[in-house]
Amino acid sequence: MSEPLLKLNGLDAHYGDFQALFGVDLELAKGEVIAIIGANGAGKTTLMRSISGLLRNAAQQVQFNGHPIGALRADQVAYAGIALVPEGRQLFPSLSVEENLRLGSTVGRAGPWSLDAVYDLFPILKERRNQPSTSLSGGQQQMVAIGRALMSNPDLILFDEISLGLAPVIIKSIYEALPNIISGGMTAMIVEQDITKALAVSSRVYCLQEGRVSLTGRVEDITRDQITAAYFGVD
Ligand code: ATP
Repeated sequence: MSEPLLKLNGLDAHYGDFQALFGVDLELAKGEVIAIIGANGAGKTTLMRSISGLLRNAAQQVQFNGHPIGALRADQVAYAGIALVPEGRQLFPSLSVEENLRLGSTVGRAGPWSLDAVYDLFPILKERRNQPSTSLSGGQQQMVAIGRALMSNPDLILFDEISLGLAPVIIKSIYEALPNIISGGMTAMIVEQDITKALAVSSRVYCLQEGRVSLTGRVEDITRDQITAAYFGVD
C-alpha cells in the first residue's frame, strides 16, 4: 500500500475510567472504501468519534495525510478534510434542509460538491429545500446528513450506521448513491449493521470486538464463518 490517507497507530479511547478502544491499528488508502463491523458496543462509533475529533486522543495515534491529528478538535479535523455522517443524523431542527446543507460548506474547502451536486444526488432534497429538516422522514434526514458532509468537500467521509432504522426503499437509494460519491475519488469508512450491504461496497473489512480489531482482511479473502467468529467472539 502506498502512504495511507489515514493511519491509526495503536489507537486507545477512553470515557473517563472506561476504556472503549485498545490499540487499534488501521490503514486506509486514498480512494479505498472499508467496512467497520462489530456487535453493539464493540467500539465502532467510538472509532468514528476518535477519528473525527469528537473524542481527543494522543496526537500520533491518528495520522491523516501524514500529519498527526489525534489531538485536534472536531472543527480542525473538518478543515483537514474529514467529514462525519453521524449516527442519528444530528441535524439542526430549526434550520431548513438547505440551511443544514450549507453548514457543511462553512469549512470552505474547494471541490466537486456543491448544493447543485447534492441535489442531483438526492433530488428529493431539492423539492424539500425550504422545509424544516424535522419535517423530513428519517431516510430523507439521512440524505441531508450525507449531503452536509459532502458539502465540506472532504478527502475522507465517515458513515456511522448509515442505514440504521431506515426503510428498505431508502436504504436502497442511499446505497445506489454511494458509487456516485466514491467515483469522484472519495475515500470512505462505513459502519453498518447490515454486514452484507457493507461488504458489497467495501474492498476491506475490519471487525471490532470489545474495542479490539478481531479480524481484518480483503472482503474476498474472508469467509462468513470467520466474520461470525470475529463478530461474536466464538472460536
Ligand atoms: P452500537 O452498534 O451499539 O452503536 P458501537 O460499536 O458503536 O455500538 P460504541 O458506541 O463505540 O459501540 O461503544 C463502545 C463502548 O463504549 C460500549 O461499551 C459503550 O457502552 C461505551 N460508551 C460509549 N459511549 C460512552 C460514553 N459517552 N460514556 C461511557 N461509555 C460509553
